[in-house]
Amino acid sequence: MLGDWEKERPLLYFWGFAVAEIIIRVAKQKMVTRSFQVHHNDSTYGVDYDTTDGLEVFKIQIFSLTSIPPDEQKLIGVDENRVLSDDSDLVAISEKLRLVSINEEQQEKSTAENDELLKSDEELARMLQAEEEALLFQQYAAPEDNGKFEARLAPYVRQVLMYEDPQRQEAARKTVPIEELEEKALVSLAKEGNSTPSKNEQDHAFLLQLLFWFKQSFRWVNAPPCDGCGKETISHGMAVALPSEIQYGASRVEIYGCNSCPIVSRFPRYDDPLKLLETRRGRCGEWANCFTLYCRAFGYESRLILDFTDHVWTECFLQSLGRWMHLDPCEGVCDKPLLYESGWNKKLNYVIGIAKDGVCDVTKRYTRKWHEVISRRNIITEPALSAVLANVTKDCRRGFTSQLLSVLEDRDEKERQELESSLHSTDNASTSLPGRRSGDKEWRQSRLECGSDESCSLSGSSCPVRACVDKHVTEIHNAFLPILSQFVKEEFPKSRAVEVLETLKGILVDLKKSPFKTRRATIDSINQSLVHQLLPSFTELLNALSMSGKADADGRFDISLAGNAVKTSLALPVALDALDDTINNLNNCDNFIEDSLCLPLLKLNRIHSGSVLANGEEIPFGIATSAFDGLRTSKWEEPNGARGCWIKYKVSDNLMHELVAYEIMSANDAPERDPKDWVVEGSNDGESNWHLLDKQTSQIFDSRFQRKTFKISCQGFLSNVFRFRFLTVRDVQSTSRLQLGSIDLYSRSS
Ligand SMILES: [Zn+2]
Repeated sequence: MLGDWEKERPLLYFWGFAVAEIIIRVAKQKMVTRSFQVHHNDSTYGVDYDTTDGLEVFKIQIFSLTSIPPDEQKLIGVDENRVLSDDSDLVAISEKLRLVSINEEQQEKSTAENDELLKSDEELARMLQAEEEALLFQQYAAPEDNGKFEARLAPYVRQVLMYEDPQRQEAARKTVPIEELEEKALVSLAKEGNSTPSKNEQDHAFLLQLLFWFKQSFRWVNAPPCDGCGKETISHGMAVALPSEIQYGASRVEIYGCNSCPIVSRFPRYDDPLKLLETRRGRCGEWANCFTLYCRAFGYESRLILDFTDHVWTECFLQSLGRWMHLDPCEGVCDKPLLYESGWNKKLNYVIGIAKDGVCDVTKRYTRKWHEVISRRNIITEPALSAVLANVTKDCRRGFTSQLLSVLEDRDEKERQELESSLHSTDNASTSLPGRRSGDKEWRQSRLECGSDESCSLSGSSCPVRACVDKHVTEIHNAFLPILSQFVKEEFPKSRAVEVLETLKGILVDLKKSPFKTRRATIDSINQSLVHQLLPSFTELLNALSMSGKADADGRFDISLAGNAVKTSLALPVALDALDDTINNLNNCDNFIEDSLCLPLLKLNRIHSGSVLANGEEIPFGIATSAFDGLRTSKWEEPNGARGCWIKYKVSDNLMHELVAYEIMSANDAPERDPKDWVVEGSNDGESNWHLLDKQTSQIFDSRFQRKTFKISCQGFLSNVFRFRFLTVRDVQSTSRLQLGSIDLYSRSS
């Protein structure tokens, strides 16, 4: 299955960045349907076409026949022997057309690309040569060892020992909403289809949640706000530290004058992470210092990473990966070690990992330009550096058991090999990495760390196929059938129905607030009669939430977990969003009768459990599967999708569905990124051919989280893959991105 997707990707990559603005021109001439014969290689395709739709739509139709993307198509009128353009009169041109793929035309050029490959071998040789020369030069330029290097490391070697203090660790844990992060970690795994994660997988997922939480809970400070009035301040230089500041390691104290009042504010640069747990602010030094304490407090093997060009971050050893992982708390980014060199354009020299059990040169993890890095390493020669690091490490490990020593040495050796092999690897070297995001823009620009493009994204244009865990979304929608049916049967007026749903929502909100492992709610006496009356119709919804309800001896009604707690965590917010949507639709319903029990009020036969592939996504908060997770707050975000992008949903088990309707919801913010024009297609032959199911132009979402329903007018076509091609967003001038809150596909009931 993977193979099929892969095969198509080079072709579709093109879409990601090259789909020209497709302007659906409503031609001034009257509608004419014409039959064209399109010759391509040895085949001829018959195309019936409504000429008022314009050339671009014509090209899309040809695309679905030939798989040659519109922007690679060159159409030539056989009689006129002229290339068709947007201005060509489709009514008047000859019916015989010749199609040339620009790609095929350029095949000669690919020979030139082979030369490029050869060149990259040459490049490698040149790099090795440069590396040798730099090493040779270093022998003359750098001192053997004057103690400077060790002196620079010494304060950090002492610093990391603070993370081992049980009191500091305990204080750190107390500030973390542990159960909330545990729940988020488990839900994130469940969303990936992992409902029974191992301990190592859970640890990994928890660490990511800890990083995201930390990023939200810590504040970045350039010039601190005024202590008196909270307004902006400017630097007045340094001051002598007070004893109360020195107590927490703040030997440096910056002074700031207020622009609006006479108060002078102090910004002590605390070294003691215990104090940082309280102040929760600073620059990268404070961020990494405090975050590394958090990592140790939760038992992760951690290092403080010191970049001699003035940045600090964290690494943790993850059992699930069997290696050290880069974590930058300021940026909320993990496992993107080339962030600094490729993203921020940093000229790295020394990057040293400092842990309680040793120091280690990890520079090679963070560069693909080692030969350049070496030319900047002039504090100490390489052999002397190794000796210094080995000595410090030996000191750190004094008194360790021989068993522990051998474990550490094995790990060191494994890492050394990993760093060597990553150095010349070309993987993700070309992935676009963003510039620095922490700190204000001026400050970042002064450090030349903005990178080449502020808007560029962490994730390039490569997305893997992702399984869609969304069966619960369908089950929740289905569970509204018995509820709404009972309302209709008992002839509830609209207002009464809304009132009951609001009560139900209150119950679900209570459930969501309660601790996830022991989630329960008791329905008070006011709502009891209501619950008893409607209980039979609520059962399906409770089932969909992995919960059950029963009356206790006093006649109160208890709802509690009836299965996997994580499944409930996953489903509850979906049910709440679905309830809101239903209430909204009910309010908009003119006359609430049996005929109302259809879309958009009742969403039956939602297609689920497929797999998703998009040509771009923003990790982690704009991942493609978010389009199908039934949650309002999550979204699919395509960083380069404004001028064209696509997302495909492949049905599981190759079941064929007739798409009768679909819904698209706008995302939480940035209306300019809303989709405006799109095409929906289905395929039933392994994506060789695409059948046009629907097309929409000039769609405007009036509000955030607005869900629009579209019925398919072309009937009877069965597909097992659906493709949305978004041609343009609401305002392509102001954004490169496309985003949407959700897509739901509905099939004809079988
Ligand atoms: Zn002030």
